[in-house]
Amino acid sequence: MPQTRRRIRRPRRTRACIGLTVLVLGVTATASTGISTRSHSAAGPVAATAESALAPCRIAGTMGVQMSEGLPTPPGYSRSTGEVRALNLMIDFPDAKGEGTAADRLAEFFPQTSDWFRTSSYGRLTYRAEAPIRDWLRMPMPFAAYGIERGSAYEPGYRQLVEHIVKAADPEVDFSRYDLVNILVTPNAGPSALDTVLSVTFSGNAEAPVADGVPLANTSFIYSRQDDGSGSYRETGFRVLPHENGHVFGLPDLYTAEGGGAVGHWDIMSEDWGANNDLLGWHKWKLGWLDSTQISCAAKSGVSDHTLSPLAVGGGMKLAFIPLSESAGYAVEVRTQAGNDEAVCEPGVLIYKVDSDVDTGRGPVIVSDSANTSGGCTRRPNVHAELSDAPFRPGETFTDEKAGISVSVVGELRNGSYQVRVIRP
Ligand SMILES: [Zn+2]
Repeated sequence: MPQTRRRIRRPRRTRACIGLTVLVLGVTATASTGISTRSHSAAGPVAATAESALAPCRIAGTMGVQMSEGLPTPPGYSRSTGEVRALNLMIDFPDAKGEGTAADRLAEFFPQTSDWFRTSSYGRLTYRAEAPIRDWLRMPMPFAAYGIERGSAYEPGYRQLVEHIVKAADPEVDFSRYDLVNILVTPNAGPSALDTVLSVTFSGNAEAPVADGVPLANTSFIYSRQDDGSGSYRETGFRVLPHENGHVFGLPDLYTAEGGGAVGHWDIMSEDWGANNDLLGWHKWKLGWLDSTQISCAAKSGVSDHTLSPLAVGGGMKLAFIPLSESAGYAVEVRTQAGNDEAVCEPGVLIYKVDSDVDTGRGPVIVSDSANTSGGCTRRPNVHAELSDAPFRPGETFTDEKAGISVSVVGELRNGSYQVRVIRP
């Protein structure tokens, strides 16, 4: 199948990466991430009831949507639970020779990336980063000769680059041992990330060049350094990699042509510059990091009460979901300053709309701001300020008058959980 070419124009210093996928449209076979079978609840009638009660909340992917929020994630992406082996190759070019050692480049991303995934997944994803070749792999052509620009499609430059990488690495690397590949490019190749972010992931791509019998179907390329100049690069610069790997696991981009205004700093697929942040609860469910028993599906008409514990803490009910249709609904979760969520300045109940009909980069998730036009509660660099105080506090109510839905935060319990009341037609 032909690649889809997408260009997303955005202001400087916002992310530019595109999860390009080649998927057979209409395939709805078993989940690559095992979401549909990932219940820890006991077998038998109780489990069956819990599963069927969740069915209306499993909004599905839609034909023609390249990378969707729908469940389950289609096959072809890397699995996102258990041990995931990541091959890291550091490359440079005759006209952009690696400055410093390749091991230094690797150390910009590890062990932080592995730690980030362990924390976010509650230990369900064990990210094993390997770098069997410790030196720079020199490409045979100058960087410019590959014609790589922001938004480049897989063909032809990237295909040639991947073929050259495979040729150079194959004598020492068994590609079939890995679930995903990270190409860590020498930072002096191409423009500064401050001007143009080239980092990109080609995921779910079965047409990629083959090495050791397997296509390099899920490969992330990291360029330059996302150094915002605030002096925090050493702590937060790695975050481009978990973002790009999010595409490898099937997650879409949540930033839009306007930048981070749809989701703000509430998901690393929205903003991966600046302070650390986590993933939305919806994404954690999609990736198989939350059990079915941790999802409360508000599908029935009338009033329902939900007690939600903070997303950053393991165990307990994490996500209430209010389906609106077969492709959309509201997600409700508790966000606090803990775990990977470093920049939360107003903890509370985050409410957002998920729409599996909306493609990557077009706004598949929209966060509801409890305090519109407040300006937000943070001035940290590269954190979307307006949405930083989006969570709803006890006593506050979100309403969608058209759908006849309200979500009220009844109170906060002493153990940190929040009580939420949903009213729906
Ligand atoms: Zn991206």
